[in-house]
Amino acid sequence: MDHIYCGGCGVRIQTTDKESVGYTPKSALNRENVLCQRCFRLKHYNEVQDVSIADDDFLNMIASIRKTNGLIVHIIDVFDVDGTLINGLPCITGDNPIILVANKVDLLPKSINKRKLENWLRAKAKESGIKVLDVFLISSTKRHGIAELGKALENVRNQEDVYIVGTTNVGKSTFINTLIEQSTGLKHAITTSYFPGTTLGFIKIPLDERSFLVDTPGIVNRKQFVHYVSKADLKLIIPDKEIKPRIYQLNPGQTLFFGGLARLDFLTGLQQSFVCYFSNQLPIHRTKLEKADDLYAKHKGGLLSPPNQGTLNTWPDLTAEAYKIKDGKTDIVFPGLGWVSMVDGHLTVQAHTPEGIPATLRKALV
Ligand code: GDP
Repeated sequence: MDHIYCGGCGVRIQTTDKESVGYTPKSALNRENVLCQRCFRLKHYNEVQDVSIADDDFLNMIASIRKTNGLIVHIIDVFDVDGTLINGLPCITGDNPIILVANKVDLLPKSINKRKLENWLRAKAKESGIKVLDVFLISSTKRHGIAELGKALENVRNQEDVYIVGTTNVGKSTFINTLIEQSTGLKHAITTSYFPGTTLGFIKIPLDERSFLVDTPGIVNRKQFVHYVSKADLKLIIPDKEIKPRIYQLNPGQTLFFGGLARLDFLTGLQQSFVCYFSNQLPIHRTKLEKADDLYAKHKGGLLSPPNQGTLNTWPDLTAEAYKIKDGKTDIVFPGLGWVSMVDGHLTVQAHTPEGIPATLRKALV
């Protein structure tokens, strides 16, 4: 069989792996202009689809970014930093400078210390092998920080291309559309810049006569727990507004359940407040530690939901890890879900999180 190439992005068409680059259903092969599913959805439904990038295609993409001189904008979800930072990003992007953009800051409580947050993000990036030129906090939906970031990009990009890189669902499309609309007045830039013949899986929006803003496909990161959760549950888990802290006075021997998605046991320490920052829609249950296992076994998916029954099919088992906290106010972060701030820094807690997505500690942000 002769190979068929997508009339949009030029990628080789395949009909076997829905999740990979170039997929199109067999029934669509008879069309005059064959498009991969991603380009088809983009053209007809205004939707940008992410693909999990199979090794070969991924390497091709890597090669193409590494070979160019461009500015890399790594966009992450400030509410799920652990799940959306791309470990070892410079392996993909070579020596090109990287700017870290944390999107969705509108979800964080106003009382948050922005400077601390930026420092924490810088440290997190470093841990993931990413040296960043600068860190920006933005909200693409509320347009916070977009103008400032736009200016900075113009200053540092040296008239070179700008590559937007991120995992699924961080708000990459919203960000690009907002940025372009703000600077040129052009609405829905991603769809309107759908030019046939762009390079493999990339969407290019002209910035000036010689350079482009390049949108790369969202990278699927299995540590991002959005992949394990039903659509209905996601609505409850991902905040849609500023988070309102919920405060619990706990004694050692008490447990908090965050729906049935995660759990925090207070093992030792003095009575104190645990300040919980989760989506306002996510129910939190307090119980006795000694009853917690039973409660979970009996009521997960019911009283302890989300997860609902749909999510339970794919939801990994919870695994427990103990943390000894010694100094100062500390946050224990449940990646993608939220965090709990502990005021008195002398205690031990145990966090139960889905297998493979462990909790992490940081200096309290608020
Ligand atoms: P992509 O997969 O990275 O292209 O992400 P999208 O642009 O499709 O956005 C994913 C989800 O995040 C959508 O529901 C957006 O409305 C939401 N979103 C994007 N930017 C923001 C933001 O700045 N704040 C909030 N609260 N939600 C956002």
